[in-house]
Amino acid sequence: MTDHDLPETGITPGGTSGAFRDVLSKDHARRGKPPAHFADMDEQERIARAAELGLPKFRVRQLANHYYGHCDVNAAEFTDFPAARREEAAAAFFPELIHEVTRQVADEGMTVKTLWRLFDGSLIESVLMRYPNRTTLCISSQVGCGMGCPFCATGQLGLTRNMSAGEIVEQVRVAARAMRDGEVAGGPGRLSNVVFMGMGEPMGNYRSVLSAVRQISAMPPEGFGISARNITVSTVGVVPGIRRLAEEGIPVRLAVSLHAPNDELRDELVPMNRRFDTTQVLDAAHDYFLASKRRVSIEYALMRGINDQAEHARQLARRLNHYGDNWAHVNPIPLNPIEGSRWTASDPEDERRFLEILHAAGITATLRDTRGQDIDGACGQLAAKER
Ligand code: SF4
Repeated sequence: MTDHDLPETGITPGGTSGAFRDVLSKDHARRGKPPAHFADMDEQERIARAAELGLPKFRVRQLANHYYGHCDVNAAEFTDFPAARREEAAAAFFPELIHEVTRQVADEGMTVKTLWRLFDGSLIESVLMRYPNRTTLCISSQVGCGMGCPFCATGQLGLTRNMSAGEIVEQVRVAARAMRDGEVAGGPGRLSNVVFMGMGEPMGNYRSVLSAVRQISAMPPEGFGISARNITVSTVGVVPGIRRLAEEGIPVRLAVSLHAPNDELRDELVPMNRRFDTTQVLDAAHDYFLASKRRVSIEYALMRGINDQAEHARQLARRLNHYGDNWAHVNPIPLNPIEGSRWTASDPEDERRFLEILHAAGITATLRDTRGQDIDGACGQLAAKER
């Protein structure tokens, strides 16, 4: 659990082109590990750390209760702890892993996007979106992303490093506490959903992501008690990661960022396609559906004149229907364009036609709302600006 450093898969989008060599060399430019945190330790490591501080085993359980049950890391709140030991225990187990740099609020306070600085100065983002019936947190799992999709702000940053499980989990704890304490417009509430759709490719940081999924979904005092069914892990199509996740037997939802219905176009939009093509990705996604009994989300960023025409919608429907009925849910997403980029959002008319064609072919599809368009809502935009 503590070994959370570099991509254990070594997966890059294929070949050793200059851009990817660049990404890889950054990847290896390690800048040390984040401080050891409670969320990075397994039970034995926590007990051993407590023993070093002269604390008995049962104190670990109390700390777990504070952390997962009450979302607390403040020594002052540890009233069941000897007063003289509180500060020391908080410092040893709960070093600050994410520090708020800026916060942007939109949709009358219902969308909150936060830019965080990590221990080594790296910047990452998370976005909280409150809806009438749920509150979803979109979190980052890597600093930047090495997948190089040309239309994506995060892709332009390249990959700096993987995030530790603690850095990932902390985004959830802080948001859960903010919801509980009524710090988000709409009054006190509960964080109900978590999506791994912020910066990074979750399958490139598999071990930390899986550890985070377990900590988010376990019931207190082992985790925050957010149902695994309300957690979505997205991938650009890292097939071995999809297959490994299917074997875990955790009922998280899988989201696959497809963005194109054929290899020719996808090779251009998603460089990872040269490594795992659309057939391999869809085969793996369908197998995930069979294993998990959970419908797979197919994410499709609509880009004007590139992938949003009727022929693309028809081809996408054919490719999905090839596997049978009702196994996938398509989320066409109007692209949130990067400033100055040639990739831009589709015409509303084309979006509507794209959806109609999917529906007519019997595909479930919902145009995803684009919360936070006015606050650099696309992943990586806030971090890119701050840099
Ligand atoms: S679209 Fe996703 S996979 Fe592609 S570069 Fe952006 S964050 Fe990475």
